[in-house]
Amino acid sequence: MLDKKMQSALSDQVTKEFYSAYLYMSMASYLEDQVLPGLAKWMRVQAQEESCHALIFFNYICEQGCQVDLGAIAAPDKEFKSVAEVFRRTLEHERLVTASIHKIADLAISIKDHATKQFLEWFIAEQVEEENSAETMLRQAKRLEDDKALFLLDKEAGARVFALPA
Ligand code: MG
Repeated sequence: MLDKKMQSALSDQVTKEFYSAYLYMSMASYLEDQVLPGLAKWMRVQAQEESCHALIFFNYICEQGCQVDLGAIAAPDKEFKSVAEVFRRTLEHERLVTASIHKIADLAISIKDHATKQFLEWFIAEQVEEENSAETMLRQAKRLEDDKALFLLDKEAGARVFALPA
């Protein structure tokens, strides 16, 4: 059984992870519209991962014998100026998610909820990876100025495959 504050924080995180998936689908749609199917695929995989994250939080709340308090998912932005802008926003968003997860870990520590603290460890490590991959994509996109280079990045991004979280 979770503390009421923890049940609420974890439920909010479910909504946030679904929002992340929604935001990345909006970016995927922009990339499709720019005729960059490889980058769009990368972003679709990113969205799939976020849906999985939402379900992992959801399942944990259920396992703890609590109800999930699902909130409203806001409409994501759909206006992006460039590919670099998309990845700048991705990195910015992942940093917000990291801060949110760290805040829940702080709460777990403060109320001595060891089970939740341990549960969050996978996510804490995952966020390091998420920020790193968003930053790599941003740095590459910024460096590319001509269409040929963008075409190559698109091919590389298109090789990404979805894998279920361990
Ligand atoms: Mg996530």
